[in-house]
Amino acid sequence: MTQRNNTKLAQLDWHTLRKEQALQVLKTDDKQGLADKEAKDRLAAFGPNSIREEKRRSAVTIFAKQFKEPLILILIVATAISGFVGDLVDAIVIVAIIILATIVGFVQEYKSEKAIEALKQMTAATCRVIRNGQERLLDVGGLVPGDVFLVSAGDRIPADAFLLESFNLETNEAALTGESIPVRKTTGMTFAREVPLADRKNILYTITTVTHGRGRAVVFATGMNTELGKIAGTVQGIEIQKTPFETRMRSTGKLLSAIMLGVAAIVSVIGILRGHEILEMLVWSISLAVAAVPEALPAVTAASLTLGVYRMAKQNAIIRHLPAVETLGSTTVICSDKTGTLTKGEMTVRKIYAYDNKSALVTGTGYSPKGRVDVDAGSGISSEYLVLLAKTAALCNDAHIKEQKTQGKEERADIEKEVVKVIGDPTEIALLAFARKVGLDKEKADAEFPRIREVSFTSERKLMTTVHKVAGSEGQIQVFTKGAVEEVLNRCSAIIHADLTTTAMHNIDNSYRKGNGVVVDDDDGSSNNIKDKILSANNDMASAGLRVLALAYKNMSVSSSDDINKVSDQDLESDLAFLGIVGMIDPARPEVIEAIAECRTAGIDVVMITGDHKLTALAVAEEIGILAATAADDDGTSSSAEQSKETIEVKAAAALSGTELDAMSQDKLAERVGQTKVYSRVLPEHKLKIVQALKKNGHIVAMTGDGINDAPALKAADIGIAMGITGTQVTKEASSMVLADDNFATIVSAVKEGRRIFDNVKKYLVYLLTANIGEIIILAFAVTAGWPFPLLAKHILFINLATDGSPAIALGLEPPEPDVMKRRPRAPTESQFSGIKMWLIGIPIILAVTSLALFWYVLELNGWQSDFALAKARTMVFGLIIFFELFFAISCRSLTHNAHRLAKFSNKMLVYSLIGESVMVLLIMNYPPLQEIFELVNLDAVDWTIVMLLATTGFIFCEIVKAVVCRERKN
Ligand code: ATP
Repeated sequence: MTQRNNTKLAQLDWHTLRKEQALQVLKTDDKQGLADKEAKDRLAAFGPNSIREEKRRSAVTIFAKQFKEPLILILIVATAISGFVGDLVDAIVIVAIIILATIVGFVQEYKSEKAIEALKQMTAATCRVIRNGQERLLDVGGLVPGDVFLVSAGDRIPADAFLLESFNLETNEAALTGESIPVRKTTGMTFAREVPLADRKNILYTITTVTHGRGRAVVFATGMNTELGKIAGTVQGIEIQKTPFETRMRSTGKLLSAIMLGVAAIVSVIGILRGHEILEMLVWSISLAVAAVPEALPAVTAASLTLGVYRMAKQNAIIRHLPAVETLGSTTVICSDKTGTLTKGEMTVRKIYAYDNKSALVTGTGYSPKGRVDVDAGSGISSEYLVLLAKTAALCNDAHIKEQKTQGKEERADIEKEVVKVIGDPTEIALLAFARKVGLDKEKADAEFPRIREVSFTSERKLMTTVHKVAGSEGQIQVFTKGAVEEVLNRCSAIIHADLTTTAMHNIDNSYRKGNGVVVDDDDGSSNNIKDKILSANNDMASAGLRVLALAYKNMSVSSSDDINKVSDQDLESDLAFLGIVGMIDPARPEVIEAIAECRTAGIDVVMITGDHKLTALAVAEEIGILAATAADDDGTSSSAEQSKETIEVKAAAALSGTELDAMSQDKLAERVGQTKVYSRVLPEHKLKIVQALKKNGHIVAMTGDGINDAPALKAADIGIAMGITGTQVTKEASSMVLADDNFATIVSAVKEGRRIFDNVKKYLVYLLTANIGEIIILAFAVTAGWPFPLLAKHILFINLATDGSPAIALGLEPPEPDVMKRRPRAPTESQFSGIKMWLIGIPIILAVTSLALFWYVLELNGWQSDFALAKARTMVFGLIIFFELFFAISCRSLTHNAHRLAKFSNKMLVYSLIGESVMVLLIMNYPPLQEIFELVNLDAVDWTIVMLLATTGFIFCEIVKAVVCRERKN
């Protein structure tokens, strides 16, 4: 099949075809999908499934771009002319320095470009495809016509496809047709050729999203041949936007450049008036301009941001929207999902409860089927009852546990012989493991009781129901339901007792159903009593931090299995018989406890938002320390009995349920939101209300989410954080950051990284600007005063290379400061100059005064007319400025902590760069051939001592300022 065939395929009227025809044309198999080899060949023939290939900038383009700066071009031309008419060596040296500086710029930009490329790879959309009969995740770009893929709510359709199977599948096609009402997709129907796009119910179109249900489809058009490709679509993935800080940095850079250029121009006019040669003055003043203009500022900012973002991605926090990095540093509250984010999300059924007060413990860990249900003799729980419970758990379930034999020669008896691969929702996997412990295998049960219908689980309904045929008995149907205890109970009208035998259970009939819609019992008939007992068992389990689910069941008879499709969802989920409750543990992630403690010292509130029961949520919140700040608010004077009463009250006040939230106005919620640490039984729309209330109170909100309906809340938050593993494509696209490991602790590391990046931006801002301002003061003063040039053009350019280059970049890599998570979040409006003005004024003055004084002193001592004196004065000033900057770089490692308090060698790049620069300068100043090229002379021990002592003045000034400021802060 070739590219032309691809176009031909896309032109077929797929909506007019039947499933068998579609599969035949595409030469693929409904269940097996394509074979790997075939898919590879088709990818080579059809090309990748992408709408628009973004042009990548080659290394040569990036290198050439470095020379496009007008100043650099002018400098090269002026130097070339001066080389012809005068000093060729000088011209060569200047060009060599420019090329070196260009290489530094190039390396930086190339690294950023690579980092962005890698980020784009990480954010590439994936889809679930069937190849060789196996389900696997594939980058959307690798899809080819003939591929069979699976979709469910929240997925984006990856290519134009023919629908093979649908379970209540609905898609939103607004992106393509503009119609925002979801379209129900169906199989088994064909449509006339002229039917418009929007009505082709058996076709799925790329870019549209699944809003409900699930389905399986076969691709017939990819990339530019899809409907979207035809109308030229959007490119998704990471958005490379400038952060507000970066934009401010750019304009600051521009302003400073204009000032520096103005000064350089004035200096050159004065110089010419003072009798310097025009060409000499031109090269000199352009060199000054090149050195003084902080052209590296935006580039270094961009590089340190992208490299920081890349580093974050390697730690599992993938930034999709660059401004988020900045917002991270200002975050004041993180609202996090519980299950799988604060907890491990690896659940294990621990306890079962059956009416009335009959319970059993379940042993084993993780998802391993090893373990058993400990039913004591006389506990009143029959094995038949357990099997029915397990059957419900396994059949009303979409997860799979796959077991594989461990391979390899080193198999040892103490290593488990079987490894377990799990697919699906952790709650459901736990239920499957439980069923296995009872001895029930899902695959066998599925074969014996094929599923014929389902009402899917959604966070809103908190329920799931499946309908099964009983193999071999025509018209016999079984309905299994599981879900939140309150929801299931509301749909039960009978109870199955745990001591029933199979026959008795199969005979559940109307004698068990004495009421409608409420649970009743055949012996005491008091519905409230029964309900209360079950709810109280539920509360006991929830208070112990268990995630609790109820299971229910009913038998139905229908005249034919088609009739079941006529029963409404509501009728299916009514008149059920309550089976029991299962309680599962979901251990807290150990690293989360520390991360939450870190948030507290960093002035960030952590709020738990969960669909789970209030008591479960509170128990987990207590364990991981979310309630600690609230509970610790007491003054420590009350008695322990009073304290525990108060603590319970405080804790209760810290929690709000979805129902309570519904009853509150947005204003009332805004009042409560400050004290509330736990939101339970929430629906996705509540998340939006919570974000809005927090924002109203001036918070900068980070909010996590995974489901499709979380998307509006994620968009409304200052930072929307999507789950990388459990999150849907739509949720990820609505977010500004994706957690590759779904782990809360990763958010805190990202906040830390965000703070560090912005600390570091300030560090090299100070470093670069002080050097530039200092140099321009020195040179402007000397020329204006009619002194000889304290530095030649090549000296200026070399100093620029030595300081703007590696030390500045290295400062961008400085590790986080010790107190990075011990200070309050940065106000979003905070200027990039806040807290550093003192440095920007003090350091250039010290640099200028020491350099000019030294220059003046050496000339005074040795005679203003002496060539040797001038060369010596220049040599000393050259050495002074460079070593001043190198010492100052050490101080810039922290703008608040004294240098000796920081780990000495934690920034290896800075260590190498300081050593490298020092060796280079010492060589230039002492190695005769280089000395000659740079027109420098030997210095004796006294000269060196003076240079080095003066070079430390900036460092000493900064260290004193930091010590004083820090002491004041402590007081
Ligand atoms: P979080 O928002 O912290 O991730 P959650 O995962 O508990 O919380 P949901 O998945 O919305 O939130 O679940 C809400 C409730 O629905 C659960 O407490 C449970 O009672 C029930 N539930 C969860 N998963 C299923 C399922 N697969 N089938 C039936 N009911 C379920």
